[in-house]
Amino acid sequence: QCITHCPTGALHERDDIQKVMDAVHDPDKIVVVQIAPAVRAAWGEGLGLPASMATEKRMAAAVRAVGVDYVFDTNFSADLTIMEEGNEFLERMTHRDQYKWPMYTSCCPGWVRFLKSQYPEMTDQLSTAKSPQQMFGAVAKSYYAQVLDVDPSRIFSVSIMPCTAKKAECALPVMNDAGAGQDVDVSLTTRELDRMLKAELISPALLPEEEFDMPLGAGTGAAVIFGATGGVMEAALRTAYFVLNKENPDPDAFQIVRGMEGIREANIEIAGIPIRAAIASGLGNARKLIERIKAGEAEYDFVEIMACPGGCAGGGGQPITDGVELADVRGARLYDLDKKNPLRFSHENPSVIAAYKDFFEKPLSHKAHELLHTDHDAWDMPTSR
Ligand code: SF4
Repeated sequence: QCITHCPTGALHERDDIQKVMDAVHDPDKIVVVQIAPAVRAAWGEGLGLPASMATEKRMAAAVRAVGVDYVFDTNFSADLTIMEEGNEFLERMTHRDQYKWPMYTSCCPGWVRFLKSQYPEMTDQLSTAKSPQQMFGAVAKSYYAQVLDVDPSRIFSVSIMPCTAKKAECALPVMNDAGAGQDVDVSLTTRELDRMLKAELISPALLPEEEFDMPLGAGTGAAVIFGATGGVMEAALRTAYFVLNKENPDPDAFQIVRGMEGIREANIEIAGIPIRAAIASGLGNARKLIERIKAGEAEYDFVEIMACPGGCAGGGGQPITDGVELADVRGARLYDLDKKNPLRFSHENPSVIAAYKDFFEKPLSHKAHELLHTDHDAWDMPTSR
C-alpha cells in the first residue's frame, strides 16, 4: 500500500494503462490481449469480488468490455513453452556432454536478471526458450497476423501479468523478433488491470461469463499451473513422459514437485532415464541452491526457479492485502483449475498442434528458433552508477 500512498511519489509504480487505452481508441490498431495463468487466481481481490465470482470467464468478459479486439490466454503460449523447453531439455540430455548442467528454466525475468548479474558464468545454462509472455507476443505478430491477414504493425500486443519484471522483459532489445516493434507492446500488472476496470466503470459482477477468443485462447491444465511454484517443472515432466514413452502418464504422476517449501528436490525416472529435478522460489532460496550446486554438494539435471516466493501466484504485480500472503491460496486455485480442465497435457492443446502444423512445423524448428527462442547473452545487464 505504501506504493500508492507514498506522499512524495518516491515509490512510484509505473502505470501503463493509458498506453492501452490510447491503442483501444486508435482505429488502426488491433488490440490483442493475453492474460497470464496467475492473474485469474487473484484479479478479483482488488475489486472485492469473491473467488466464486472472479472466474476466468468473467475475467475474459471484463477485459473485453474495455474495448480491446481480442482476449487471449497466455496458457496457449505456456503450452507452447513446454513444447519448446521440454524438447530442448530432451535434446540436451541426448547430447549430454555438450552442455553444462543443470538446465535452468527461463520463464521468470526476475530470475534471469538475477542469474545474469550474480552468476553470469551460468547464463548458457538457461533454457533458450522465451517466456510464455514473449512467445505469445511473437506469435501474435507473426502467425496470428497471418491468420487475420493483416500487417503485423497493426497489432498492438498487451499482456496482463502478475509481475512488474515483465515490463522490463518486453522492453529488452532482443524481444522484437516478429519485426513489428516490441513483440509485447505493453505489459500491465494484475493491479493495473483492476485499476483499469475501475477507471472504465466496468463492474465485472454484473457481466455474464464469456469465453476467451480462439485460436490463441486455448490452454491446458498443464499451462495454468505455470502460475504456481513447481508448475513449469510438472508440466514439462508430463510432456517429457509422453515424448519418451509415446503415451500419457497419469496427469498427477509428478505432483511430488508441488509445495510451498522454498527449495524442493525430486528424483524421477522416465523411460529408464533418471532426472534429478530441483525447484526454488524466492531469490534467497535460488542463491542457496546455486551455492550448493557450485560447491558440488548437489547435482541436478533440470532446475525451475521463480523469483517470487510461491511463484507467480505471489508475484510482485498481484493485488496486495496488508499483512496477508495469498500465494498458497492462489496456487491451490490454479491446481484446482488444472484438475477441472479436460486437457492436462501441453502436447494436447489443439491450438498449439495447429500452430505447429500451419506455421512452426515442429518444436525446435528453424522458425521456432527464430521466434520462440532467445539468446540470453545478446543483452547486457544495466550497469549501476
Ligand atoms: Fe514475475 Fe515473480 Fe512470476 Fe518471476 S515469479 S515471472 S518475477 S511474478
